[in-house]
Amino acid sequence: MSTLQIKGLVASVAGKQILNGIDLTVKSGEVHAIMGPNGAGKSTLSAVIMGKPGYEVHAGQVLLDGVDLLALPAWQRAQAGMHLVMQYPSEVPGVGLTDMLTEAYSARGRSTDGLAAAVADEAERIHFPVALLDRSLNVDLSGGEKKRNETLQLALLQPKFAILDELDSGLDIDALRDCSRRVEDATNATGLGVIAITHYNRLLEELHPDHVHILVKGRIVASGGPELADRLEVEGYEAFAGPDEQPVRAKKPALDDLFAL
Ligand code: ADP
Ligand code: MG
Repeated sequence: MSTLQIKGLVASVAGKQILNGIDLTVKSGEVHAIMGPNGAGKSTLSAVIMGKPGYEVHAGQVLLDGVDLLALPAWQRAQAGMHLVMQYPSEVPGVGLTDMLTEAYSARGRSTDGLAAAVADEAERIHFPVALLDRSLNVDLSGGEKKRNETLQLALLQPKFAILDELDSGLDIDALRDCSRRVEDATNATGLGVIAITHYNRLLEELHPDHVHILVKGRIVASGGPELADRLEVEGYEAFAGPDEQPVRAKKPALDDLFAL
């Protein structure tokens, strides 16, 4: 059982504070959805957790089983068990999928015996065309093929935690179902913990989150079960944060505010 803890995370990019204090704890096997409007800071959160250059952390911690991830370069975060499926997967001309996986396995001290067969099995399972396995990473793949390819990598690398940044963007309904099913299987088979970032309920209907969080203006303004996503569908994001930027959810009263009860 592993735990990913995000505590009081405050971060900025290009001199602008985007994350205003994020608290989130994810355990092995759990699926947490983070929903929020455009520009809320969802991708920033994933970038800060994974260590993308250019982001400045001002306060808070990200701990994987107590290990301070923020002190590590991105590759060591991956080695520790973190994985990001990017919203727009990078194309890497000249580097094949098997080359990349061979390096990643070696870096983890895993044997690459049988890797080619495992890749072929996963490709079949996720309906990624075997004919595309020899292409350079993501080069000339459709949006859906890229996400299937990324999901295949996730399945083979078996990280402890995966952040899926809008896995649903660019996916048709069949690809969305295949990718969601594979991720869900990993939560059951290897205890993968998931942070699934999305705008839409559609992904959540396939991925079945245990917890749903709503991120507005760099803060989690509401947390609940899957019913929260249904409420969001009806009420929209505006119901969760007014124009004064104050979340409308009930807050714990401060000590000097007890009479407000
Ligand atoms: P979301 O993924 O929720 O749509 P993002 O995290 O991508 O939102 O962006 C949050 C805010 O941070 C936006 O206002 C965006 O313009 C800004 N931002 C993100 N990355 C950068 C960057 N590299 N340089 C400048 N501003 C950025
Ligand atoms: Mg984004």
